[in-house]
Amino acid sequence: MIKFYNSLKKKLEKFSPIEEKRVKIYSCGPTVYDYAHIGNFRSYIFSDLLRRFLKYKGYKISHVMNITDVDDKTIHKAQREGKSLQQFTKEYTEAFFHDLRTLNIEEVEFYPRATEHIDDMVRLIKKLERKELTYISEGSVYFNISRFRKYGNLSGVDLGGMKKGSRVDHDEYKKDDIKDFVLWKAKKQGEPFWNTVYGEGRPGWHIECSAMSMKYLGPTLDIHTGGVDLIFPHHENEIAQSEGATGKPFVRYWLHCAHLIVEGEKMSKSKNNFFTLRDLLKKGYTPRAIRYLLLSVHYRKQLNFTEKSAKAATAAVLKIQNFYDTVKELRPDNKKNHGVQNKLRPFLINFDRELENDLNISPALASLFDFIHMTNRFIIEQKITEKDKGFILKTLKRIDNILGILQEKESVPEEVLALVNEREEARKSKDFKKADRIRDEVIKKGFVIEDTKEGARVKKIE
Ligand code: AMP
Ligand code: ZN
Repeated sequence: MIKFYNSLKKKLEKFSPIEEKRVKIYSCGPTVYDYAHIGNFRSYIFSDLLRRFLKYKGYKISHVMNITDVDDKTIHKAQREGKSLQQFTKEYTEAFFHDLRTLNIEEVEFYPRATEHIDDMVRLIKKLERKELTYISEGSVYFNISRFRKYGNLSGVDLGGMKKGSRVDHDEYKKDDIKDFVLWKAKKQGEPFWNTVYGEGRPGWHIECSAMSMKYLGPTLDIHTGGVDLIFPHHENEIAQSEGATGKPFVRYWLHCAHLIVEGEKMSKSKNNFFTLRDLLKKGYTPRAIRYLLLSVHYRKQLNFTEKSAKAATAAVLKIQNFYDTVKELRPDNKKNHGVQNKLRPFLINFDRELENDLNISPALASLFDFIHMTNRFIIEQKITEKDKGFILKTLKRIDNILGILQEKESVPEEVLALVNEREEARKSKDFKKADRIRDEVIKKGFVIEDTKEGARVKKIE
């Protein structure tokens, strides 16, 4: 039974989607005004883990991640750099997709851009207007939160002291500043605008997610994800806009991930601890190690990114990869059944059970390492049959469909293999000078030879 912690109900709940075999997920995506930082990637890796796990459990997935390419931040930074909004956001949108590939984050089904859905947003605002949930002031349209009874249910904000009719125009504001929020902003000098039934202007940030999620997934989504910082006001406002318009529940399970901090402190440019993915790659960390690190702490726990944890993640990835490579290269001549599969199966069951429990990744990974440990013992004891080897590889592949860290070794070119064979011959005939010369030649071609009990093994130099 799959259980998730639903931030709306503030408890663990059994997960069952609306449709039996399909899960509809919406994840708040990037605001493309800069390179995404590793905190952002923590939240995208969390939604990647969620999606991969549900796929593994046999669900089909319809997953939407929006690209916010118009809002206060994108407009102001584009202005500062003297670029058009489109030219400015294109660069960071491309960088974002590039980074997703680097981190082996699976492509989702839809990546709608806000600027391509202005009509949908205006239609949604019209619906809210017809339900008398809005008012216009100085050419901008606001959501009247006092008319939406459930306002505050997600974030638990207290509406008690709120002055009726006080408004906020900024996309981002704090809990102690609860006000009617803007749906459509009247045109300001020098800002990009669209000409609509509400005159010239642009959408507020919050309406973007309501319009785009419901366009692709319908009025009710199974799961909505984002970082905890988005609970108020963004997600509270999304609920008001969506349920206000449709009268139906907007989201069945709200999943929020805790923040990432660096060496115990909040990331900030002034503290010099603000990292993009590119910064970390420059420091020499591999993409898989970064992926592993961002994945390996339960999503509702704060993740402390430290040099020590990055090193530990690097070692863990190497261990799993080496194990996979070793098993692939096994040539077992044992034919006797030692019950290896029966002894290994419980680890996989455990891995699965832990993830079913609100994606409890740490004990799930511990089961994987137990699996590796026990298999290594079987290898040393030569208890593995060809069939067991197949089972072990299949199990690892299944697990890696969720983790996404294994890499297939690049195949070794024929000419290098020929040199390796030639060197083996030289060694057999005790011509060690020749053997060494060939080894150096192999290194020049970018490979190293490791001599193991099972014979020579070739590896690409990283
Ligand atoms: P933004 O581009 O600022 O709209 O944020 C994109 C996503 O990253 C949102 O889901 C945020 O909640 C999330 N996020 C922002 N900062 C952090 C952080 N330090 N740790 C984890 N997630 C974050
Ligand atoms: Zn959003």
